[in-house]
This record gives sequence, structure tokens and C-alpha cells, in this order.
Amino acid sequence: MVIVGSGPAGASTAMALSGHGLETLVLEKHKLPRHKMCGGILFPSALKLISENFGDIPQGVCSKPSRVKGTRSYMTMEGPFIEMAFGKGSHGDDGISAKRADLDNWLCSRSDATVVDGCSFRGYSGRGDEILLRLTRDGKEFEVRTGYLVGADGSLSRVRRSLFPGFDKGLGLFSNYEEWYVGRIDLEPEWLHAFYDERLTGCFAGVFQKDGKIIVTNGSRLNEPVSVYFQSFLAYLKESHALVIEETVSKDVCVVHDMPATDNFLTGKSNVLLVGEAGGFNRAAEGITSALITGKAAGESILKSIHSGENASEIYQESVKKEMERCKKVYDILEEKFGVNPFTR
Ligand SMILES: Cc1cc2nc3c(=O)[nH]c(=O)nc-3n(C[C@H](O)[C@H](O)[C@H](O)COP(=O)(O)OP(=O)(O)OC[C@H]3O[C@@H](n4cnc5c(N)ncnc54)[C@H](O)[C@@H]3O)c2cc1C
Repeated sequence: MVIVGSGPAGASTAMALSGHGLETLVLEKHKLPRHKMCGGILFPSALKLISENFGDIPQGVCSKPSRVKGTRSYMTMEGPFIEMAFGKGSHGDDGISAKRADLDNWLCSRSDATVVDGCSFRGYSGRGDEILLRLTRDGKEFEVRTGYLVGADGSLSRVRRSLFPGFDKGLGLFSNYEEWYVGRIDLEPEWLHAFYDERLTGCFAGVFQKDGKIIVTNGSRLNEPVSVYFQSFLAYLKESHALVIEETVSKDVCVVHDMPATDNFLTGKSNVLLVGEAGGFNRAAEGITSALITGKAAGESILKSIHSGENASEIYQESVKKEMERCKKVYDILEEKFGVNPFTR
């Protein structure tokens, strides 16, 4: 069993396969622990899944402040924000702010899989029930055989591109840029602040605070200048939310796709499954929940396929239909309630 990617989707697949006497490898191209651009906010549904499947999150994985009350959405620069408290949702409780690198490492450590970091998936060829993977580690290329392959390799999934060549050409791609600061801002730290005004962002912008840092992110289509939007957003935060930057401690950029926002999911083919962002699963700001759900479903589908001989991807496709609907619903709600789907406007 080979899982490509050690994020929450890969960890959740590994956990579902754990304890069944299978040899499972999780391959991660970066050295661990690795940074992942993310608010690291565990929504109540993610917390429930983690507690049920992985156990209690260690204190060291939580950021300070650890409590997240919900989201505040600013539709225009001038208007008031719309508050959605987690406590009013179906699971009732607050969210938790986590250190993403440590969270992912801990999730992976809970299963009996062997995690190999610094190891990149390059491609594969299928031979009947057997899959031959091409991998690189420390500059050396080598091959590994497996019966099942799970692509948990995030937004720009190479497993997806190997399985469905050409599919990515039809995707809308967005740059997300972030900077981490030491400083001050008048936005309450226990909320995730999201900004949608088209003068400030080409997708949506965000501010969250953890471990004494202010994190500012902004997104736009790949062919638009995200840096221009970022500077406008910073100017607005300084003017309207008293942002003072004392030090810039880090900068990062990543690319995300519009798959969930356009109801365009891929679950895999035969014995190759796509989970989390690789398959297009993300409930807008709540991607970790979808990654955990689909990862678990993939692991369970593989177990069922081993025992019944049925096609793993067919079992998996059926089991994640509800999550596809859930992801789509989040974007429908954004349109209905806030008047905007940031990925299609
Ligand atoms: C700016 C931003 C803020 C966000 N904030 C939140 C939030 O607060 N809460 C929330 O729930 N969601 C949030 N999300 C979404 C969330 O980060 C993702 O949905 C989630 O990480 C998806 O998990 P995953 O396991 O599918 O993929 P990832 O977490 O991206 O993991 C994929 C892994 O695969 C590895 N990989 C990639 N290619 C290869 C390869 N060829 N070989 C080997 N390994 C490979 C990568 O290095 C990575 O470690 C945010 C996203 C962004 C962009």
C-alpha cells in the first residue's frame, strides 16, 4: 500500500489501514516536519473526527490562543462583518488553532505506516493489479511495486496528473501569498477574519493570529498580480484595523485549484484513489475536515476491496458522494448568504 503525501488526507488513509497487517508506506517529498500554508484551524467537525480516529490532540500541537470561536466575513471594506460562530453549528463547540507541521506529524505517527520523507513520487505504470511507482530520494531514482496507490499529494497532485493527463488544463488555479508578522492589529485573535471586497482580493484574503504572530494571506487567479492585491490589503489593514508591522518573520506562496468550487471532483480509477485536495475535496476554508473524511473513506474502501475483490475506486466513489455534496454546499451557501463564490467571480 503506498500513500503519496503526509498531510491530513494521507495520515487519515494510513490510520484507516492501520492494524490490519498490511505494509503501508507514506511518502512525503519534503523533510518532516514540513510547513504547509494553512490557518491550521481545526473546525469542530475536524476535531470530532480526530478525537474519534486518532485520540486526544497533544497540547504541544495547539497554538496560542488555541481557541477559535468562528469566522468573521467582511464582504466590503466599508460594511460590518458577518459573524458565524462555530458554537452555533451542529457540533456545538469552538475550533482549535493548531501548528500545522506538528499536527500533520502527530496524525501520521498514530498509524502503523512507515513514513518516508524526502521522497518524491514521479509517476507510475500499471501492470494488471500491480502498480510500478517511480520515486526519487536523495537525488536517486528507484521503483516500488504496490497493489494500491493513494494520491494524498495536495492541490497540484502529481498522482492526479499521472492518472488523468490533461485534466488539470481545465482547472482554474489561484496563487495564495502569505506573510507572518510580529506586530499589532485591532482584529480579535480568536476569530478567523475573511475579506472578500474585490478592491482587496482576487479571491479572498484572510487574517489569523497564532503564537504571537499575525498571518496575512491573499489570493488571486494565477494570471493576476497577487502582490498588488496583497499590498492593497496591507494598506487597508493599516488604515482600517490599525495594523502595525514590527518585523516580517516569513513569507510563502502556494497554488490552489477551483475543483470543489466548480463541483469538479476526481476520485480515482481502479486501484488508484485520490483523497483530500488531490481529489478536489475542500469545504472552502475547512479543507482539513474533507481531507480527514476522504482519507478515512479511501482506507476503508481499500480494505473492503481486498476482502471482496471489488473495484476499490468504485467503492470509494460511492462512499464520498456525501462529502462531495457537502463541499459543493459550502460554495452554494457562500453565494446565497454572502453573494460571492470567490473562485468563480
Ligand atoms: C492559505 C490557506 C489557509 C487554509 N486554512 C485552513 C484552515 O485554517 N483550516 C482548514 O481546515 N483548512 C485550511 N486550508 C485548507 C487545508 O490546508 C487543505 O485543504 C489541507 O491541507 C488538505 O490536506 P491534504 O492532505 O489533502 O493535502 P496537503 O496538506 O497539501 O498535503 C499534501 C502533502 O503531499 C506532499 N506531496 C506533494 N507532492 C508530492 C510528491 N510528488 N511526492 C511526495 N509527496 C508529495 C506535500 O508536500 C504535502 O505534504 C487552508 C488552505 C490555504 C491555502
